[in-house]
Amino acid sequence: MRVIGRGGANIVIDYGDPMWLWRCCIRWPDLLSSNNSYTVKNIHYIRENVEPLLHGLICPMNLIDVDIDVVRPILSTFILNLDEKVVKIIKIKNLFNRTANLIQNDHFLKSYCSQNFQTVLLELKPKWLYYDTDYCRNCTHNVSKGREVRYCYNQLLINPSHLELTFAECKVYPDKFKAAMLNYLHDDNNVFKILYDLQKKFTENVISIKNIKSIDDVKDEHLLLMTLRDVTCFIEWNSTKDALYVNVIDVDLKPKEKWTHWIKTYNQLTSSEKIYHTSK
Ligand SMILES: [Zn+2]
Repeated sequence: MRVIGRGGANIVIDYGDPMWLWRCCIRWPDLLSSNNSYTVKNIHYIRENVEPLLHGLICPMNLIDVDIDVVRPILSTFILNLDEKVVKIIKIKNLFNRTANLIQNDHFLKSYCSQNFQTVLLELKPKWLYYDTDYCRNCTHNVSKGREVRYCYNQLLINPSHLELTFAECKVYPDKFKAAMLNYLHDDNNVFKILYDLQKKFTENVISIKNIKSIDDVKDEHLLLMTLRDVTCFIEWNSTKDALYVNVIDVDLKPKEKWTHWIKTYNQLTSSEKIYHTSK
């Protein structure tokens, strides 16, 4: 058993089953019970609020109880007080199991392939596909963070040939895979378009984040909007079937308390250099 992924709020554990992984909340480093109650709330939130929006795209997942003694050696390094006998864990389908080689790796895209390129897997974060400012939120954020990313998923949505620039750093993608991706991007039902439309709808339905003055101003739609701006998409291509399979993960409920962080980032961006897009 080992940790194979770590974010600010979660760890992903390989527990020995090649088909499934355990995703465990560590958002509250002091108490296991806080993480457990959030996980229960979170899975209900995903089922009731996110799944209906992303029809059929959410990666298969289930809530399970795991005896604390099974994960104690791992969890004790992340959570100080393991105050409950079970850990609420989200068991999630392992999307990596056929793709071992990392071929492209930057902040918004990790690509993997199997031996002989039978399978290619993209792991990407589209972030803010829709924005109502006169600058691109993703490109501006990248420049303010000093990240040199030339492509932009908003541009990819509008102009599928931007795929060339997205894949420019890695020369080994099979032509058949690139053709399948281009085809997919021309389809109006692609995951970028679905996320763009949802982000647009929720942005228009709520007061702008910059106008939030207190936690009482934070509406459920704000939380959903922030969830939709933070998802991870897996796009898997299989050479034999020449087909693409899309799974979306990281669809978690954002705590309302995060609103101060959203404002802080907004203020940082308004006072930094505004970029329409990094590349034309
Ligand atoms: Zn951009």
